[in-house]
Amino acid sequence: MTVLTGVDDARLFDGVDLHTLASRVQTPLYAYSSSVIRQRTTALQDAFAGLDLRICYAVKANSNLAILQLVAQQGVGADIVSVGELHRSLRAGIPAERIVFSGVGKTAEEIRAALSAGIWRFNVESADELLLLQEVAREEGVCARAAVRVNPDVDAQTHAKISTGKAENKFGVSIDEARTWFVRASRMSHVQLDGLHAHIGSQILNLEPFRHALRRVEDFRQELEAAGHPIHSVDIGGGLGVRYRAGHDRPIAIEDYAALVRETFAAFKGTLVVEPGRWLVAEAGVLVTRVIRVKPGADREFLIVDAAMNDLLRPALYDAWHDIVPLRPRRESACYDVVGPVCETGDTFARGRDMPRCEAGDLLMIGGTGAYGASMASTYNSRPLAAEVLLDDGRYAVVRRRQTLAEMMLGEQLPQDWHEA
Ligand SMILES: *Cc1c(COP(=O)(O)O)cnc(C)c1O
Repeated sequence: MTVLTGVDDARLFDGVDLHTLASRVQTPLYAYSSSVIRQRTTALQDAFAGLDLRICYAVKANSNLAILQLVAQQGVGADIVSVGELHRSLRAGIPAERIVFSGVGKTAEEIRAALSAGIWRFNVESADELLLLQEVAREEGVCARAAVRVNPDVDAQTHAKISTGKAENKFGVSIDEARTWFVRASRMSHVQLDGLHAHIGSQILNLEPFRHALRRVEDFRQELEAAGHPIHSVDIGGGLGVRYRAGHDRPIAIEDYAALVRETFAAFKGTLVVEPGRWLVAEAGVLVTRVIRVKPGADREFLIVDAAMNDLLRPALYDAWHDIVPLRPRRESACYDVVGPVCETGDTFARGRDMPRCEAGDLLMIGGTGAYGASMASTYNSRPLAAEVLLDDGRYAVVRRRQTLAEMMLGEQLPQDWHEA
């Protein structure tokens, strides 16, 4: 199931020749392996077999409709953080009753849209939001099912920008605060607060932060039950890390994660929810890019490629490592800064990377880019969004065509009507 299976067969991905694909679709392009995504989903389902577990895929990891449809076909639901993700999920065929809504900034309009769609539950992150949920649900004449997102104050031991479970982070509320919500919620007419939620961060490679966080959640659940507040669902979030750097990153084995969950929640009779994003799709994606030119530099050569930080932001945003593999590797090696054409020094995919020597026109694949790649892309520097292609055992289908320049400027207009305000 690994993506970067060594240089010899690097050009074949889910049975598709990436050279042929690049000549048909043009670069830069994202290619996603259906087979890998199916394998991951099945592996997760198998690891938790026998438990009352719902998988809600974190849509923000990769929100392409084709990816959402693929996971929907496997019976997976969605974890959404905006009304845009709600619409995508519904359009891709994910039933509303398999959708959970997370996020610190839900507006009244977003809550209303999610209530009228009939989503399964809201993961509520502040007291103000809980009151708003009650208010909007009352106006709509429905009862909202809700879970409180607790911030267990655990260090996820990951990059600071993707750490979400420390007390100083904006996410969730303390267990002390959550306790008061249950007292208040029992008097709320249109909110049924009967769930707990925790998501402590992303790209977690160590089981210990999960152990601590889940223990806190389960202790709290038992305390609430004892106090007469039944808990029907516990959502343990996402966060499972993946292998970005071959031979370096050691992801948690899914069986170990599942064993921890089984052990921690042995006494819990309700529904468990898990919200993986990255783990399901990151290693199922590659970004294929072409070398524009090789430029001599003071320290080493620059490999200038046709993908840039607007296509893949993770290296610029998180100093993230991605393996970069030429599709037809030469024997000699070289050391490069692999950079894009965007006018920012941060537009760098790799610094001082030892890799096979490359020339203008060569194709490279940037591995592990199925998650937080296309979904974080922008048109910065007026670069149209890249094409996205779904692969399946030797076949491919374009699931997002490259944005045209006209589409890139869609919605913009020169000032015609001026209004007084
Ligand atoms: C982003 C997010 C996830 C998914 O995180 P991954 O690390 O991609 O698994 C799950 N739950 C919530 C609430 C999130 O914000």
